[in-house]
Amino acid sequence: MELERLICHSCAAPLEVPPSARYVTCGHCSTQLQIRRTESAIYTELLEDLAEKTEELSERIDDLAANSELNAIDNQWQMEREKLMVRDKHGNRHVPTKGSSTAGGIAIAVFGCIWIVMAISITSSAPSVGPFATSKVLFPAFGVLFIAFGIFNSASSFKKAEQYERAERRYKQQRRDANRN
Ligand SMILES: [Zn+2]
Repeated sequence: MELERLICHSCAAPLEVPPSARYVTCGHCSTQLQIRRTESAIYTELLEDLAEKTEELSERIDDLAANSELNAIDNQWQMEREKLMVRDKHGNRHVPTKGSSTAGGIAIAVFGCIWIVMAISITSSAPSVGPFATSKVLFPAFGVLFIAFGIFNSASSFKKAEQYERAERRYKQQRRDANRN
């Protein structure tokens, strides 16, 4: 069998190996070597080098995987966020907050109270009998509707704000978990 001539990568001692060999231990310095064959050359490489390279590569793959996981989490959150945002009366989307929902509800309720006071003072001079009598009740009653609407509105946007906060917390937690891995 014809042997291939090689040089030890570690100590440069000449080595002879069968053409099918993939690994060789240097007879001179006992270093374990891997035999590399390219079209134009044949050479040896330290096994530790290879192990290091493999480790480096697997680390890089881990990094890539972690990055794509983070990207996936970010994209998911962007879509969820779009859905959870509220539209104001000008058509602008914004993040719902507990503060603004409470303030919005209070504003409507205050308007309702003012309405009731004004309605009572306006209708107080109306006669208690006849076609105008019902307006004494109906007119101020609209104010109560406003207050009810304000409370309902506030509660529902408060709920939306809570939903948003929960989703955001979940997103941040997911991101932290992904970073830790
Ligand atoms: Zn050697």
